[in-house]
Amino acid sequence: MGDQVPSVVQAYIEKTPKSRALYQRAREIFPSGVTHDSRYLQPYPLSVARAEGSHKWDVDGNEYIDYFGGHGALLLGHNYPAVVEAVRDQLSKGTHYGASHELELEWAEQIIQMVPCADKVRFTSSGTEASQLVLRLARAYTGRSKILRFATHFHGWHDQVAFAAVPGDGAPPAGITQDVVQNTVLCEPNNAEQIEQTLASRDDIAAIILEPTGASFGRVPTYGDFLRRLRTLTREHRVLLIFDEVVTGFRVAPGGAQAHYNVIPDIALFAKVLSGGFPGGAIAGRADIMDMMTFRNDPTWNATHRIPHQGTFNANPISACAGLTTLKLIADGTVIQKANRSGEQLRAAMNEAAKKHGLNWLVYGEFSGFHILPLSEDQSFSLDDIAAGKVPYTVFKGSVPASLIHQIRCGLIAEGVDIVSWPGGVISAVHTETDLEKTAEAFGKLLSVVKKNREKI
Ligand code: PLP
Repeated sequence: MGDQVPSVVQAYIEKTPKSRALYQRAREIFPSGVTHDSRYLQPYPLSVARAEGSHKWDVDGNEYIDYFGGHGALLLGHNYPAVVEAVRDQLSKGTHYGASHELELEWAEQIIQMVPCADKVRFTSSGTEASQLVLRLARAYTGRSKILRFATHFHGWHDQVAFAAVPGDGAPPAGITQDVVQNTVLCEPNNAEQIEQTLASRDDIAAIILEPTGASFGRVPTYGDFLRRLRTLTREHRVLLIFDEVVTGFRVAPGGAQAHYNVIPDIALFAKVLSGGFPGGAIAGRADIMDMMTFRNDPTWNATHRIPHQGTFNANPISACAGLTTLKLIADGTVIQKANRSGEQLRAAMNEAAKKHGLNWLVYGEFSGFHILPLSEDQSFSLDDIAAGKVPYTVFKGSVPASLIHQIRCGLIAEGVDIVSWPGGVISAVHTETDLEKTAEAFGKLLSVVKKNREKI
């Protein structure tokens, strides 16, 4: 690539002077000028001023088709009218009662109605909090200390899950203590034999946690057979099976990935779509596990066995209202099917564009997600290979050069499309045919630049 700024990055810079100016202020205040690592972009991130439906507008007034989708939270797109109306109404009734309220009850009842594993529910303020709570519950319930999780799978940013997000990156970041690392058993995604051997050879594993459609909404796909195998093995060894449905819950199917695959975990965690575009998370699962949080008429048990749980904004009325309204809207599956169909259509159109430009890039994924895999000239995997589980997981994450991902993101922003740096994105139920066509066109334009410059990249 040399020192020269690639033309797609140059196009991004020319289009976004106000984002650049805001970044000059932001970098003095926020580490790296951002408030979430995923929004980091060189030479500066995009600053957005407003959003509506499937679109958003940056501070320079440029319009984008949005596939960031509020980090996956916005299945109904930005400002869905029924959700906005319900929240406006709730605002006038109060935002925080510091007390129990009927909305939280209705929200939880709706979850129990939709999610197969949900006997009981507890709300948190984020997916990360739900992840931390569910792992502590699993250790307390089983009396075992270790959590088994998979390289590349993401479960938030608390200590036990904040390492090995990409292949080979087993080293924990600074600040995570050795005992946390030692209490985490890291396995390869989709390697059933490894799980079988691990569970047969030790009795200290409390739970297995995974993203049920694979790391980052299927960036590293996982398959139904693997989930079924995990279910059998965890039952055999009395290990809890935890599905992290923070993305997949209420997006893959009304009852989440567990309903789609008919593999019912012992407990699951949710966030994002759960609270309709507002902050919130939840755990939901078997009553006997959830009851580890129940006060008993036994002070000793309460002091030594019960799992305490606080959180100022748990089930706050605004999130409860937005979440309940959203879940009711999607409960019959129509909205999800619409987003899933758009996903299929977009992936097909983007693959068509790649074929047209003679590039062996693949756009894969399932449900309402898409993942761009820019294979190098000497790689010859196909979509069928991915579906058949024949592609090593290390190809999906960590193998695409950062400079190329950067050019894909900047190139698409320059063409009016904002994606996530997997690279890929999430599709809402309000993306239109025109959005999908324009996205495939923008992708085609990016590909023609890439093709021209392939030797430079
Ligand atoms: N689990 C998964 C699968 C996620 O994708 C995320 C966030 O992207 C989390 C957990 C953490 O959720 P939150 O960002 O709400 O803390």
